[in-house]
Parts: sequence; C-alpha cells; structure tokens
Amino acid sequence: MSVSILENQRNAVLDTFGQKIDELKAGELYREFLPVGHLAADRGHTGYRGRKVQVWCSNDYLGMSQHPEVIQAQIDSTGRHGTGTGGSRNIAGTSTAHVELEDRLAAWHGKERALVFSSGYVANFETLSTLISAIDGLVVFSDSLNHRSLIEGIVRSGAKKHVFAHNDMADLESKLALYEADRPKLIVFESVYSMDGDTSPVSAVFDLAEKYNALTFLDETHSIGVRGPLGAGLSAEIDDHRATFVQGVFGKAIGTVGGYVAGPDTALDYVRSFAPGFIFTTALPQAAMDATLRSLRLVQEGDALRAELAAKTELMKAELRSRGIDFIDADSHLVPVMVPGGERVRRVSRQLLEEHDIYVQPINFPSVARGGERFRVTVAPFRTPEQIANFADAMQKCLQEN
Ligand SMILES: *Cc1c(COP(=O)(O)O)cnc(C)c1O
Repeated sequence: MSVSILENQRNAVLDTFGQKIDELKAGELYREFLPVGHLAADRGHTGYRGRKVQVWCSNDYLGMSQHPEVIQAQIDSTGRHGTGTGGSRNIAGTSTAHVELEDRLAAWHGKERALVFSSGYVANFETLSTLISAIDGLVVFSDSLNHRSLIEGIVRSGAKKHVFAHNDMADLESKLALYEADRPKLIVFESVYSMDGDTSPVSAVFDLAEKYNALTFLDETHSIGVRGPLGAGLSAEIDDHRATFVQGVFGKAIGTVGGYVAGPDTALDYVRSFAPGFIFTTALPQAAMDATLRSLRLVQEGDALRAELAAKTELMKAELRSRGIDFIDADSHLVPVMVPGGERVRRVSRQLLEEHDIYVQPINFPSVARGGERFRVTVAPFRTPEQIANFADAMQKCLQEN
C-alpha cells in the first residue's frame, strides 16, 4: 500500500475521536476546564483572565492550601531538599517525612499502618485491585454512588461484585446473605458522598459486616479534616473504629496533594510490596510531605476551623432558603444547589462568572444523573457573611434570568 493510503487509514482512526467528542457536545456533556490561578494572598479567590474571582466550588474545604504556615513549610522543605525525590519509594524516594507522615496517619485513624500514594484515586485503585485479587473467591459489596476510583479498583481486581442501593442496609444485607459465613467478603463505601452531601450509616454497615463476616473499606475523603475529634473523619465522630481500612486524601481538606490508606499492618505491607501504582512511580516530593505534615497538625488542632465551617455552611443554607433557591439540605459541609438541565446549569455558571466574578463549576452527567445537574457549593470558614449574602443574591438573579 502506498504511504498516502496508510496515512489516510491512520487519520480515519484518529477521526473517531473527533466523532466521539462531537457526540459529547451534542449530548451537552462536553467538559470545559477553566484555566485559573489561585491567589494565596487573597484566600478563596482565583485569577481568571486578569480578574479576581471568588471560588465557591473548591474541595480545599478549610482553605489549608493557602495557609501561611503550610505554604512556608513547603518553601522551607523545598529549599532544603529540592523539588523532587528522584525515585520511586523503593529507590531513594522514601524520605523521613514520608515515614513520619505514614506513622501519623496510622495513629490519626487508630490503625496499625498507613501508606501514602500519589493521589486519592491511586490509593483507592491500587489498594482495592491489589488486595481483592489476592484473596480467592472474595466477593465485593459496593455502594451504588461510590467514587470512580473505588469502582475502577474493584473492576480491575476481577472479583465478583454486588452493587447495593445507595445507603440501603436492607439491600446490602440481602446481598451479603447470599453467601456462606466463611466466604471472604469486602464492603466498600464512603462516609460522606460529595454529590448529594449525605452521610452513610457507618455503624450499621459495620454491624452487617460483623454479622456476615465481612471486611470493610471506608473512603473518608470528604470527612477527614472536617468531621470528628482531631478532624479524623466520620467514624471518629461517631467513635466507631471498626473499619478494616480507612482511606483519605490530602488534596481536599488538607490542601496539598496525595492520598493514603490506613489499616492492618500485614495487608498494607502486601500492598506496599505488590501494588504496581505504588511501586512503579516516583514518590511525592519531600516538600509536599512536609507541607502535608504541617497542615495535618493544624487540621488536628482545628476545632475552631471546623466550627466556623459548620456555622458558615448553615448561614449559606439560610441565605439560599430565604431566596427560594433549591438546594439539598444535607448533613455535611456540602451544599448542592440544584439547577436541572445541562445547558441551563452551564449558562447560569457562565453568567455568575462574567457578571458577578463568582466561579462555581457546573456538575453534569455522568458525575450526577441526567436531570440532577447542580452546583456543588462549598463555603470556606473564612467567608464573610457579606460574601455569602452576595453569592446568594447573584445566584438568585442568574437563576431567574436563565
Ligand atoms: C476526590 C476523591 C478521591 C480521589 O482523590 P484525589 O486525591 O483527588 O485523587 C477519592 N475518593 C473520593 C470519594 C473523592 O471524592
């Protein structure tokens, strides 16, 4: 075949991507990324096209990514150690800060051991896929609203899986009851589900796990830092520490980057030894670990921050309610404002940004069901009552005009 025929064939293959993107656009599912530059000197604000814009959709729940002490810890550590580790955890990439952080995380959750990964996604994917595939015949029970990283880890393991209706203990029990007591089982769930902001019945899950002889894996991503004594999460808040494994991330309330799993020593030693995404990747910089350690200490001492976050969240709900704005009154710091319609939520978002210097990212399918489009509003502790009232005013105006 001539060169041009081969080239045409290659182009035809590449064209399929364009067709799929066109389908996304036609279905109002195409994602826009807003290029911004967060402003550490002006917490809660970001730079966008030369303007200063308020961010109301950040997962940096406590504003720790812009905390002066956390910033300084990272700068100081970078000065001492440089910007990178230059190796995997196995090859010169394990610093004393990695070890100290893992020890503190284990203690925070009352577990024997903790392992730090490049991200929360990697922590979930690698731990679940590695552990599950190591146990013959293990059956997984997974909440229907679990995060993609949990789902992908379970799928990758190749194990038999049951998806139980979200937070539905009767459904979970009916599925657990299909198996003999000696069949290995693992229940995978989250403590706070960020799209609806609801919490799971953690103790009821542990009760079922005991009754049916199951291990549990609890993703506390959205509750660490913001719930419980020392900010150790929802299981700490209810003082029920029966989770076999607890997972958390640094990119949200801790304000840095990375993720971890805490749990039994030998199981995590196995993950450390066999998980490809733990072994065959460059370790996070020591400076990131030092910043995380500093933030973790501040967060653990942060009862005042948590109280402020709760108070400002309640204030936001009151302001939305008094203006007749539809939101989910959830049992968490998350405030989902419902704006059904993929195109509409996008228009409202654009108008908030262009006319009011307010940034809230539209949440669309597949993150939420079609018709469940929304803004996932977060209110940082440092927000002023005026900023919150202005946000609600702007939201009301843009909803009326769209
Ligand atoms: C964000 C998130 C993760 C992934 O954490 P990253 O550090 O962002 O990769 C895992 N689980 C849940 C529930 C999350 O919301």
